[in-house]
Amino acid sequence: MTIWRPLLRCRLCWRITLGVFALIVAVESVILVPSGRRFERTEWQRVAARAQIMVESALAGARGADAAKAASSVIGLYGLRSVAIYDSRGALIAQGGEPPAPPFAAARGDMAGLAGTGDGGRTLTAAWLSHAIARATVVARVEASAVPARLRAYLLRVAGLVGIIVVVVTVGTMLILDLSLLRPLLRLRESSLAAGADPEHAEAFVLGTRRRDEMGELIAAHDAMLAQVAESRRRDREMAEERARFLTHHDPSTGLPNGAALLEFLAHQGEAANPVTLLHLNVQRFRLVNSTYGAQAGERVLCALARRLQHAAAPGDLLARIGADRFAVARGGEIPPHEAHSLAERLLRHAAPPIEVSAGNEVSLAVRIGIAQTDGPDVSGEDLVSRAELALSRTYEDPACKYQFYSADLAEQAREHQLLAQDLERALQRDELFVVLQPKFELARDGAAALSGAEALLRWRHPERGPVSPAKFIPIAESTGLVDALTELVLRAVGERIRAWRARYGWSPRVAVNLSAQQFGRADLAAWLSRLLAESGAPPGLVEVEITETAAMRDVLHSVAAVGELRGLGLRVSIDDFGTGYSSLSYLRRFAVDAIKIDKSFVDDIGRDRHAEAVCSAILRLGQSLGMRVVAEGVETAAQADFLRRRKCDEVQGFLFGKPLAPVAFEQAWLRDMPAAHATALLARR
Ligand code: C2E
Ligand code: MG
Ligand code: MG
Repeated sequence: MTIWRPLLRCRLCWRITLGVFALIVAVESVILVPSGRRFERTEWQRVAARAQIMVESALAGARGADAAKAASSVIGLYGLRSVAIYDSRGALIAQGGEPPAPPFAAARGDMAGLAGTGDGGRTLTAAWLSHAIARATVVARVEASAVPARLRAYLLRVAGLVGIIVVVVTVGTMLILDLSLLRPLLRLRESSLAAGADPEHAEAFVLGTRRRDEMGELIAAHDAMLAQVAESRRRDREMAEERARFLTHHDPSTGLPNGAALLEFLAHQGEAANPVTLLHLNVQRFRLVNSTYGAQAGERVLCALARRLQHAAAPGDLLARIGADRFAVARGGEIPPHEAHSLAERLLRHAAPPIEVSAGNEVSLAVRIGIAQTDGPDVSGEDLVSRAELALSRTYEDPACKYQFYSADLAEQAREHQLLAQDLERALQRDELFVVLQPKFELARDGAAALSGAEALLRWRHPERGPVSPAKFIPIAESTGLVDALTELVLRAVGERIRAWRARYGWSPRVAVNLSAQQFGRADLAAWLSRLLAESGAPPGLVEVEITETAAMRDVLHSVAAVGELRGLGLRVSIDDFGTGYSSLSYLRRFAVDAIKIDKSFVDDIGRDRHAEAVCSAILRLGQSLGMRVVAEGVETAAQADFLRRRKCDEVQGFLFGKPLAPVAFEQAWLRDMPAAHATALLARR
């Protein structure tokens, strides 16, 4: 039954089979009617022929009245009802049985002519030219009632036969359809569905055939289509894989190999025991280009830079983009350091000219390079990259340093940096950090110095290492995000002091706090500081913030706005370490700060170096002409103090006058015995 089920359900097969069935029935019907007529006619002729034989044999040798007797003698035999014999003129010669049928033309030859049937087809009238009586025509009426029954039987037989044929043909057709059409069609359907569900392996569902007919062609076409589908899917997949492979090894915007490709290159070189020189390039402050001109313009600039770097690199070098603003150049083989130097310089030279970022706008990119070379078989690709990155990070500390080689010392310093970073976090929780205050003084003509303020300086007493210089731990705090917590600590301590002194003496000197470059770059600087000040309880008028010149010059537009906002809060603002940061005088004019502090390195050389003295004098004149106070820091000798007094330096700060002291010691040394008049005059000054 299961074999038949699909066949019985096959609508197409049913349609064809029923069509065939109807066709056979129609054809048989068309054939059956004339065939029945022919049968009936033949039957009549048989009856007529029998009557002829019988009558002729009775008439043989009969004459005159004998003819009539002979004719009567056969009546009743074989269904003969009447016999009439006519002469050539149509006159009745003899007759027997029922009233004779009228004469009619006899058939030619031996065969009797038939006049037709009578009595509803039960009798037949036949005429023929008698053999026995010359020129006489015999007309006989014969019983023929058996003919319709035989005709019916004949028709039934034929119909039965047709029925069998129809059944056989129908079933046969169904089976043939099943074999030649339905099964291949079902296989085609299954194969198409399966291939549709798994097009990548479509060729696994090809059917294969040796048939030469249309079904064979259809299967062959179907198979060819599956093979094509599989092939095109395979090609699509290969292309997608190729693209994915490309993307996993390339940077989509520049088309350069990416960090993964660089590591692979380094690994191959390592496997081949080939030394490698790696230059790690960073485009400094590239974010500014993005934020000013948009990310798309930024990518265009990077693409232009990539082309230049490619041009600068040698044909065998691998240039990769390994980060948003980072590139790397790797060169395999033994290379003397001077060659690495010249490659770095070549890369810098090519990167230096301004790049057009949009119509009429150009940007100059500041590129820094860290260089590392494999110095043994144990240096992995990752090691080399991080060594070069470490060297790169050192270039940030010195604006004049454009590239830096990795060395074991650097690694040691980095390790040290790491350890200190961990310790610093603990130090904050364990109160190892505290604030000291260094006094600042005004110099009178007679050489007397009067306290004018103080600078809060942070100290760290490490439980094992002892005191750690802020010059060491402040950059660590900046890089680990702890610097804000340190400034909060300083401002809290300063606020506490100012409040205590005001309560005790009714006044307090102004105290300066240092801001790191990172903090000065904060977009919410003013809001942040105003919150801290409010928390510390220090009146803004008694607080000064010192920002280094380098920090102020990083982003001049921001600095101008930030200085304005800070002064808007009531704070005084001064520029620290002035003279080291390559200030443009036009920018300084726009900063509108309250004071500039001459860097200690210039003060140190007063009396020793004419150039340093010239710088100090120039800064003093500059401050005076811009209406800014000038503070000299690091004053250690009377000669330095004398030089500064003569040039009307507003304030001095240095070990000669006072070292940084803990707040209590500072109070004892400088505030307790302060004459009230001096305090009042001090407060009255801006
Ligand atoms: P700075 O702000 O320029 O501070 C002046 C530095 O010079 C202080 O060093 C001070 O002790 C030192 N100094 C002052 N007079 C003399 C002198 O006559 N001779 C010598 N040899 N040194 C003198 P210190 O405290 O080691 O601070 C170094 C730097 O660390 C500071 O330079 C400042 O940039 C930074 N710093 C210190 N405390 C903080 C802080 O709380 N926050 C931030 N962001 N930076 C701080
Ligand atoms: Mg300072
Ligand atoms: Mg300074």
